[in-house]
Amino acid sequence: MANISALAGLRVVIVGLGQEGTALATYLTRHGFTVTATDSQPAEKLGTVPATLAGAGVSLVLGEHPLSLLDEADLIFVSPGVPLEMPFLEAARSRNIPLSTESRLFCYLCPAPILAITGSSGKTTTTTLLGKIMEASGRKTWIGGNIGRPLIEVVDQINPTDVVVMELSSFQLEYFHARLNQGVQTENPGLAGLLANWSPPISAILNITPNHLDRHPSMKHYVRAKRALIDYQGPEGVIIMSLDNDMTRTIGHQFRGKVRWFSLEAQMPRGASVVDNDLILLDQNSMPHFLATRQEIKLRGAHNLSNILAACLMAREAGASIEAMRSVITTFSGVAHRLEFVRDYQGASYFNDSVATSPGRLVAALHSFSEPIVLLAGGRDKNLPWEDAARLILHKTHSVILFGEAAGLIAKTIEKVRHEVSTTQTIVHRRANLEEAVNLAVQLARPGDVVLLSPGCASFDAFHNYAERGERFKELVQKL
Ligand code: ADP
Repeated sequence: MANISALAGLRVVIVGLGQEGTALATYLTRHGFTVTATDSQPAEKLGTVPATLAGAGVSLVLGEHPLSLLDEADLIFVSPGVPLEMPFLEAARSRNIPLSTESRLFCYLCPAPILAITGSSGKTTTTTLLGKIMEASGRKTWIGGNIGRPLIEVVDQINPTDVVVMELSSFQLEYFHARLNQGVQTENPGLAGLLANWSPPISAILNITPNHLDRHPSMKHYVRAKRALIDYQGPEGVIIMSLDNDMTRTIGHQFRGKVRWFSLEAQMPRGASVVDNDLILLDQNSMPHFLATRQEIKLRGAHNLSNILAACLMAREAGASIEAMRSVITTFSGVAHRLEFVRDYQGASYFNDSVATSPGRLVAALHSFSEPIVLLAGGRDKNLPWEDAARLILHKTHSVILFGEAAGLIAKTIEKVRHEVSTTQTIVHRRANLEEAVNLAVQLARPGDVVLLSPGCASFDAFHNYAERGERFKELVQKL
């Protein structure tokens, strides 16, 4: 662990004033750094952020990223939302100005052990579960990274006996590879430490499936970014991986360090698995330790059993008790907007899965229920294929209510594949917006049904983000 004074005297530029950039600018000025922050948005689009930062002594350059900023930059912190291919960053790299990001700096400064989670799906659920388990076992626990608040805000309050549970995205992990800054020469040991390869001591890659290929140049790049989480561990390091996912199975088998496997089928020494009806942890002799029965788990869906097994494996490596795991996994009912139970009304159960912004995630949601389903779907399509989701809709729902920009596209795809599902009785309805869709769902739902908002689309045609859409749905359902 390093102290921030190891970087003293460096002139810092921060690119991107989202939550992370703003928190970092505040933190660094508080510690006496000369900070310039730049965002491509003009001041009027950034709310109260410019006034707050200017008050704290940060120099602001808004609406553009002039190359002249590079003349006075010793170190650039980039928001993970900003693509590395941006001309300003390309220019910085050609001048060998080092790049880093808030989460990498946090890891550099953090005095407590870090348990880190990445993967294409399930990060937020697993991170939340693990955080709760560590809390239940009596450890002071800090949760953040790609979720919640930027951890740099609290780094000064963290003690070595605490524990940190971090979700890390592939965009953040790019900055954990030293090769990102390979042309940079520095005599400054503090800076060299920040730019060095680094992996957390206990790390999980939950699964890897094609994702974010709009931002990463190729699948190979995407996988390489994720590997930062495991490639630079010390001898005590442990990785947690899925044996059921093709990519993680291959990576884990080639890995020379310690691997702990979770699987819904196979049982591995020191791994976690589901056997018949029970979730279990195995010791080095493959002796089972009971965690919970399937019926005791409140979370829906097989994918969530995988997330639970991963969280318990990590918790065991970090010293948590089986009782702490049990108390959390038998009571935790999910993170908001992820198959979130809202209420029962007239015998039907209402679920909010607003985070399902792609047809693939809609498919995962439909697989999570055995009850008859009234589905609410639609929004703004992301140019993704709908055929698989359409077939499953015909299998699993008796009514689907489509709304938003993509309603026509989804309806058309359902009719295109309808002849392939001979047993289907699904009736497709169209409504102008979410409110009208909920009103119709109430009329169509029968006792024992599940009414599911799992849009399969982005929300931007009618909402700021998926969370606002989910909140609106919950509000409409609560008012019934
Ligand atoms: P992330 O943080 O990686 O986006 P979340 O925990 O927020 O993941 O879950 C988002 C959605 O991803 C869920 O609603 C579900 O549809 C899907 N999902 C979650 N966990 C898994 C998993 N282990 N495997 C496949 N899909 C998953």
